[in-house]
Amino acid sequence: MTTRFDLLTIGGGSGGVAGSRRAASYGAKVGLIEGGRMGGTCVLRGCVPKKLLVYGARFAEAFEDARGYGWTIEGASHDWGAMIAAKNQELDRLEGIYRSMLDRAGVTTITGHARLIDAHTVAVGDQRVAAERIMIATGGYPVRPDIPGAELGISSDEALDLTVRPDRIMIVGGGYIGVEFAGIFSTLGSTVTQVLRQDLPLRGFDEELRVALHQAMVARGVGFRARTLPTAITKAADGLHVALSDGTTVVVDQVLWATGRRPNTANLNLAAAGVAVTAAGAIAVDAWSRTSVPSIYAVGDVTDRVALTPVAIAEARAVAETLFNANATMVQHDTIATAVFSRPELGTVGLSEEAARARYGAIKVFATGFRPMQYVLAGRNERTLMKLIVDAATDRVLGAHMLGPDAAEIIQSLAVAVTAGLTKRQFDQTMALHPSAAEEFVTLRDARPSPQ
Ligand code: NDP
Repeated sequence: MTTRFDLLTIGGGSGGVAGSRRAASYGAKVGLIEGGRMGGTCVLRGCVPKKLLVYGARFAEAFEDARGYGWTIEGASHDWGAMIAAKNQELDRLEGIYRSMLDRAGVTTITGHARLIDAHTVAVGDQRVAAERIMIATGGYPVRPDIPGAELGISSDEALDLTVRPDRIMIVGGGYIGVEFAGIFSTLGSTVTQVLRQDLPLRGFDEELRVALHQAMVARGVGFRARTLPTAITKAADGLHVALSDGTTVVVDQVLWATGRRPNTANLNLAAAGVAVTAAGAIAVDAWSRTSVPSIYAVGDVTDRVALTPVAIAEARAVAETLFNANATMVQHDTIATAVFSRPELGTVGLSEEAARARYGAIKVFATGFRPMQYVLAGRNERTLMKLIVDAATDRVLGAHMLGPDAAEIIQSLAVAVTAGLTKRQFDQTMALHPSAAEEFVTLRDARPSPQ
């Protein structure tokens, strides 16, 4: 054993890299163990490649809409393979940036799979690495249901690397990943069948937005099979035959499992160091991201708190601030803006109408639905939906929700106001920026009548 690190991070994803760099910037001696490519789920298998594919798909709509503005577009065609190759090139570039950022920060990278030996020691192959503190940031992995033929389907990992776009795809699951891939594939011309075990996608989001998204996706040609589960998949000459719990069979070229993710703890040997896990298999942590072992911390998806990249980054940096900058920092998990890059796009911050009503009782709901100006000449009949949820007692805006173009960009800005606890009156005092869609959020006048 040669080096004893101040901090040894396991996992080179967004959280691990951010926390390591922050700790090193305060003079800590930091090591980071990663078994594969640097960048983690978000950069290599999640947010970034997904968003690039969403951008790629958007051109199909833009070409359609352009006609209404006088454009003649002939012979437009899409090369899925070229898009994937371009995406991979970008991921290579980003991975290079991650590595050089770590180098510049003075973080020592160690390649291999980490296994805990005790509260201060990690094994990587034959090597033993010692550290004052350990931070586990190993993320999660996609799960697939345990049904016959499940292995014939793919996860989002493989969906991002398909060399050919499937003409017919079944997407199982109605969470973020399910609806985002339904948007990508359907917009680019695939026939999409989306299987939900509920009536609507995006459980937990504002109910009205769920209904509106569902309607818009149906109008865009996504074929939903609600309250249904696949029961078996078999391969035949004409494709994959998926038997559903309603007794029907659907034949497709690909099945995408978008049925959730689980914390990546396999082979970490957590028990050897005494690190406790939750019933769901996540590493149990307190508000400071401390595990049951005082020298070991865990951040990001492996802790199954809020599985979003910026949250993992914030948690990891908070650990670095607390340990190496004498700046005790705790992450607030209650007002987190999030977007679903479905078609149409959905953005949300704060409480849904249902959650706000349950928590605060008396609330006011301000909402508007309109056809975005950009769609009028294009002849597109999709409507934008915006909602503000306000605490009747204090006038504080508890939640802002939007379904429509640029929802992610608009909600990110509004998140400042919601996080700051601004009131509806302060929204009303804000001058509108005209003409924009976002101005509707500061011109909402009448609350809906309260439900009896
Ligand atoms: P989610 O947990 O969001 O959704 C899983 C979906 O699969 C739900 O609709 C769930 O139904 C359904 N499901 C679960 N098990 C089964 C089963 N056995 N059979 C049929 N359906 C099933 O997971 P995702 O995989 O979509 O995404 C994982 C996480 O990654 C997200 O929660 C999010 O935190 C993050 N993410 C964020 C993105 C973003 O910020 N834009 C993009 C992608 C991912 P039910 O509702 O009934 O439970």
